[in-house]
Amino acid sequence: MYQLIDGKAISQEIKAELKEKVESLRQQGIEICMAVIQVGSDAASSVYVNNKEKACAYIGIRSLAYRLPEETTEEELLKLVRELNAREDVNGILVQLPLPRQINEEKILLTIDPSKDVDGFHPMNVGNLSIGRPGFVSCTPAGVIQLLKRSGIEIEGKECVVLGRSNIVGKPMAMLLLRENATVTVCHSRTRNLKEITRRADILIVAVGKPKFIDADYVKEGAVVIDVGIHRNEDHKLCGDVDFESVASHVSAITPVPGGVGPMTIAMLMNNCVESIEKSRTL
Ligand code: NAP
Repeated sequence: MYQLIDGKAISQEIKAELKEKVESLRQQGIEICMAVIQVGSDAASSVYVNNKEKACAYIGIRSLAYRLPEETTEEELLKLVRELNAREDVNGILVQLPLPRQINEEKILLTIDPSKDVDGFHPMNVGNLSIGRPGFVSCTPAGVIQLLKRSGIEIEGKECVVLGRSNIVGKPMAMLLLRENATVTVCHSRTRNLKEITRRADILIVAVGKPKFIDADYVKEGAVVIDVGIHRNEDHKLCGDVDFESVASHVSAITPVPGGVGPMTIAMLMNNCVESIEKSRTL
């Protein structure tokens, strides 16, 4: 029988802890404020932005919402980011991706003050992670580490395989596992003999971006499987990068989709906002 790793419960536990922390900061006269910028009205982005605002409200973080029209220019967005960088009452800045075509995402992300970069995408934070210095860590991989730790799954010394090498999931995931003293292998689209490598994993983290890509053939008996993927299938139901039905019978622990990694991303964003108070003094 496998252990179902409950991301919903663990994310709620983290948010409740943060709520307490924020209350104690408030009693010391410290308020946390996060600015969330959305450009255009992409439906998925609107859902994410609303969920972030709701989480802020629950925890006691003040959120400033900027909903800008689709035709916003790069210069206008840069101006807003620079204004928010300069505001002492704003601790975190989040620009919801994707941005409309006329705006260069990289240019915007590079303009965000690294000490307010609660998404952890700025090269300074990415660099800090890779050399073991403090900084903001990308929320989804940070959430995976919390899922493992809070489910009592040891990471140190384990053979961990990360499937995917994106800048927001795969690469920071590998760095975080290394920081936890795992032995880490990263696979991608040019990897040869993929099944042989994934079958070595004690902990397999899947961020391949392809629905139900991983079946039982890719997984060692008794492994822990973390599914980062999120897709809608033909019936509009959510599914992950892992074929849960095929894999579940021979793993020791697994995350479901929905209710696994997904809820952790927002919880870790909230964690970064709370930590931004300390980061503003050290970065
Ligand atoms: P991505 O940027 O598309 O990266 C996918 C990675 O998988 C790439 O490194 C790619 O290799 C590799 N890949 C693709 N096909 C492969 C194959 N056949 N064999 C081996 N490797 C292959 O995706 P992402 O942004 O990292 O996201 C991954 C998944 O996580 C998506 O389903 C996304 O929706 C989900 N996600 C969820 C959350 C959450 O909060 N739960 C957050 C972020 C992302 P190359 O580098 O060689 O192209």
